[in-house]
Amino acid sequence: MVKWCVRFKNENYSLWARVISAIHGGNRCQNFIPLKSSIGGVWKSIVNMGRLTHNQPFNVQDRLIPKVGNGDKILFWQDKWVGNGTLRERFPNLYVMESEKGCKVSNRYKVGQHGIEWLWGSNNELTNDDMLCEWADCISVVKEVSIQESPDVWHWKTGSVTSDFMVKTIRGELDHINVLNETKVLKWLHWIPKKVNCFLWRVVLDRIATKEALQIRRINLSSLQCVLCNNAVESINHLLMTCETAQLVWSLIFQWVNIPIPGYILSVVQLLETVDSHSWQKKTKRAVYVVVAATCWNLWLMRNEYIFKNKPPNITNLIGNIKANSYMWIKNRAGLQEITWEKWRSFSF
Ligand SMILES: [Zn+2]
Repeated sequence: MVKWCVRFKNENYSLWARVISAIHGGNRCQNFIPLKSSIGGVWKSIVNMGRLTHNQPFNVQDRLIPKVGNGDKILFWQDKWVGNGTLRERFPNLYVMESEKGCKVSNRYKVGQHGIEWLWGSNNELTNDDMLCEWADCISVVKEVSIQESPDVWHWKTGSVTSDFMVKTIRGELDHINVLNETKVLKWLHWIPKKVNCFLWRVVLDRIATKEALQIRRINLSSLQCVLCNNAVESINHLLMTCETAQLVWSLIFQWVNIPIPGYILSVVQLLETVDSHSWQKKTKRAVYVVVAATCWNLWLMRNEYIFKNKPPNITNLIGNIKANSYMWIKNRAGLQEITWEKWRSFSF
């Protein structure tokens, strides 16, 4: 998403960027990247991604550095192109007098006989001496920058180096950021269908619409009890781990894959951590991860079929579905064609 902010600055004459400016810009816009917060949608998400928040490391404004060319992509008052700050901050009185606040550097000079001549292009004339003095100061500041014939280029700053923006650089930085602790257990294996990966992600973040979650969101329900045991409030960790039905299912699954199940496991996160800390080969670890995903997924499907289709739970069918689903994923998605159904059923490969 940061890429689009960079492209917006570098491709300000392209049609899409002009459309964005027409919608989000305007003379009152003072943002580095134009955004009207009242207009939701993709652009708002993109710009907000680039804002510095506690879990968002990219301050686009500080990291995009302009290489001044002919001034066609740099905002005269609002971008940091000369010295440390913006001219708006350094010369607030002049900025107040400016009629076109979003003017570009190229709008404020002309090439004369003696080189670059800086112009006060605003419709509001500078009349008093103080203002004229301030404008003279401003000219002396902007004169430090040499104007070229080539277009401006916005570069991306990484440490002390500025270079062309590359998504790869950001990706590398994102990999080193502390994401939410819980989500560290997720592997995002392509062996598993996307919808199941997403389901597991939402399980780990406790974002599944269980009865408990619905009640927290103030949705009235006749009962909060788990339909499988009718013995506890239906939370995601109850449904998938601590419910007696889930416990029975997991004991059969762990028997199948030959893992001793520690009795203290109370959540899917704990289970995934235990699986990850095991000293199996990488392939086996991944296969167990697939089985855990298939088990969670099928338990959830079974619960939904009971609630919405009145289909009573059947553990034998459930175990069969878990084995069949995980086998299909392993064989077709992981490319482990050599694994036969017989081998998979005995979890020996
Ligand atoms: Zn239960």
